[in-house]
Amino acid sequence: MKTINRRRFLGMSAIAGAGAIITPGLTACKSSSQTALAAEEALTTGKATAEAADGKIETRTLGKTGITVPVLSMGVMRADNPAVLRAAYNSGITFFDTAHGYQNGKNEEMVGEFFKDKDRSTFYIATKGNPGRRNVPDDYGKAFEEMLNTSLRRLQMDYVDIYYLHGPGSVEDVTNPQVLAAMKKFKSEGKIRHIGFSTHANKPEQIDAAIETGVYEVILISYNFKLNILPELDRAIERGVKAGLGFVAMKTMVGGGTAPAEPWNNNSGPIDGAACLRWVWQNKNIATAIPGFTSFDLLDNCLQAAHNPKFTDEDKKYIAQLGSQELLYCQNCGKCVGDCKKHLPIPDIMRAYMYNYGYRQPSLSKETLAELALGADVCKGCTGCAVKCPSGFKVKEKIAAIAPVVNVPDRFLA
Ligand code: SF4
Ligand code: SF4
Repeated sequence: MKTINRRRFLGMSAIAGAGAIITPGLTACKSSSQTALAAEEALTTGKATAEAADGKIETRTLGKTGITVPVLSMGVMRADNPAVLRAAYNSGITFFDTAHGYQNGKNEEMVGEFFKDKDRSTFYIATKGNPGRRNVPDDYGKAFEEMLNTSLRRLQMDYVDIYYLHGPGSVEDVTNPQVLAAMKKFKSEGKIRHIGFSTHANKPEQIDAAIETGVYEVILISYNFKLNILPELDRAIERGVKAGLGFVAMKTMVGGGTAPAEPWNNNSGPIDGAACLRWVWQNKNIATAIPGFTSFDLLDNCLQAAHNPKFTDEDKKYIAQLGSQELLYCQNCGKCVGDCKKHLPIPDIMRAYMYNYGYRQPSLSKETLAELALGADVCKGCTGCAVKCPSGFKVKEKIAAIAPVVNVPDRFLA
């Protein structure tokens, strides 16, 4: 079998400025190239690809952590092909994001297996955990520690670079003394290098609360052009940056597809991810974005954007035209919370909808709904939906279009 080592592989690409010092003792390549991707694709798939222009990718620093990364990073969450991970790494991406819960732990295992023989100074790993996400355990600190230890075991690593509290639902969760005590302990033991949290909801409030604690160093936030609280959020991010926080953007591609006119009419087309990324990178307070590419084509699209990051007039027109459409992305604004007569967790169900109709991953939808213990006919017997979404989501119809996935046997799901 034809093999090639990383050093030689990177040498094949015209990488400028490689080996930038990122933090004391850590070095990482700071640029990527289409040539590298093309060569990697050829190596892994035998597919010939067009050669694209070489060049640098801008790097930015994650607040007071001192970690400097390319503006393009990888959200590994949905990827299940290690060859895509390898292509991303070989093309100069240095920051990889996973979580305890992704793919029931298989995602962390894949990351661990891939990086086990790599030089630890050439990549950064972020993972997430939250023992109180559904039910608060009696011994929170112990449960949190067991969760982190499991992640480290799966990752085959002694430490992770960033450990996020996964999706705190409220300001109280962000400032929970048990969370802060556990995080500080993990850091003092050397199991995590930096403390953070990931959030979709109440973002400005949670950012201000994080600043107050003086404990957090990085925040992973959903950030895209569809957010109707953008001015307020940008001001909060600015305050966070001034306080030394680093910001990582997720959900940059607003659900990955253009919305079907009606949920049962599955005509969603792919979104132009490059335009979405270029929109995000206009905000210099966002250090990096973690699109969840799962294929070589999607990686290629992201790399092309990273090599041509200027937000163009054409991008502007495209984004403006999408801005008026419903799309697939639930902003998690919380405005519908309490509307449902059956107290259903609407934003979570909308996320499951997006996983199927945007990401094309019905198994992830099923996993999400199963976690919420929801059946296929959750709205049964309820007439006249009381949920009002300012973004125009037809919530009842979307639920009807996704809930039946819980009854589909796993062997039929992607
Ligand atoms: S469904 Fe609509 S109202 Fe509810 S959280 Fe999502 S965007 Fe907000
Ligand atoms: S139709 Fe479904 S989502 Fe709407 S109020 Fe009834 S149970 Fe809730």
